[in-house]
Amino acid sequence: MEFLPGFGMLSPMPVHYTFTPDAPLTRRNTFRVPARAAWLAEIHDAAVIPEVLTLPQVKNLPLLVLGEGSNVLFTRDFDGLVLVMANRGIETLADDGETMLVRAAAGEDWHGLVRWSLAQGLCGLENLSLIPGTAGAAPIQNIGAYGVELSTTLESVAAFDRQAGAQVQLTRTQCDFSYRQSIFKQQPDRWIITGVDLHLHRNARLKLDYAGVREELAVMHVANPTALDVSEAVCRLRRRKLPDPAVIGNAGSFFKNPVVSTDQAARLQSAHAGLPIFNAPDGKKLSAAWLIESCGWKGFREGDAGVSDKHALVLVNHGHATGAQIWALAQRIRDSVQERFDIRLEPEPRIL
Ligand SMILES: Cc1cc2nc3c(=O)[nH]c(=O)nc-3n(C[C@H](O)[C@H](O)[C@H](O)COP(=O)(O)OP(=O)(O)OC[C@H]3O[C@@H](n4cnc5c(N)ncnc54)[C@H](O)[C@@H]3O)c2cc1C
Repeated sequence: MEFLPGFGMLSPMPVHYTFTPDAPLTRRNTFRVPARAAWLAEIHDAAVIPEVLTLPQVKNLPLLVLGEGSNVLFTRDFDGLVLVMANRGIETLADDGETMLVRAAAGEDWHGLVRWSLAQGLCGLENLSLIPGTAGAAPIQNIGAYGVELSTTLESVAAFDRQAGAQVQLTRTQCDFSYRQSIFKQQPDRWIITGVDLHLHRNARLKLDYAGVREELAVMHVANPTALDVSEAVCRLRRRKLPDPAVIGNAGSFFKNPVVSTDQAARLQSAHAGLPIFNAPDGKKLSAAWLIESCGWKGFREGDAGVSDKHALVLVNHGHATGAQIWALAQRIRDSVQERFDIRLEPEPRIL
């Protein structure tokens, strides 16, 4: 049963939101695990957020904002309101010939936005090609890939602040971004992101620090790459290395790469030959995939919950695993890494 509040069946007016009781979430999470929401609201116009939050059926219930569900794991039904930002639109706010300020609504598909920017001849998002999800979710964990994070191009975030009961515009500094972190991740119940503003360039220097990208460009016989070439190289790498959620349920990397002190990294490296170590702003970053693979988990399967045989960091649903089963496997992996390396892995997706 679905309600379209405020608008009759024959009304010519646009639908600003839909509101559904007892809604299935299986097709709304890329792990494809079964779960239901007591209520689901799909928002097409951010202006109706205050109205939806005060609907009598849901005003006292917990709230979960959901994009495409590519970074969540439902371990049970959600006994509250799941609010999906489905507002659309990409517009140019300013253009001085060299840089462009672009505004994207939260419900825009992230990769669609990357492709749009490339079609305008803009640089800045190419390394973040093919990351699943919505533009509105991108600031939550400051999405990053192949040496680039969202925070390098993000100008500001438009959000509904539930604490203030008002729409606000947060600058990049106010978003408090770091590796897979932001103010939005720290305060998940406070913010509903309605849009992002990005600062993109026509002639910026491409980020080719990541050896894999340079090697892929060489395989493509590209000597002087454009942003479009880098995007193509990234897409080829991702298609080869990561399981496709359309084929097998997953949420990408299940654990964050742990950051440890320089001393601890040196100790670990002398005890475990081959452990890859990378520089991080606040210490040394280790490869979570390497730690997990060393514990023998790559390709492991128990029932329908498993670890990808393509990438040890990706947990997969082979068909009918529940979120609880996947979470139980994740905890076993975490415990075994802790026992062997004395490092506590932190999950990257939101566990619900
Ligand atoms: C195959 C695969 C590869 C991936 N690769 C990468 C990668 O390279 N780098 C990377 O960083 N991530 C990666 N991810 C993770 C994921 O794609 C990103 O985190 C993405 O930004 C999630 O978008 P989403 O719309 O699916 O968000 P969801 O999964 O729906 O939500 C994620 C979190 O954001 C919150 N949220 C969502 N929308 C809003 C909003 N409008 N306002 C407030 N909160 C909101 C949710 O409450 C939840 O806490 C990958 C995932 C998959 C499946």
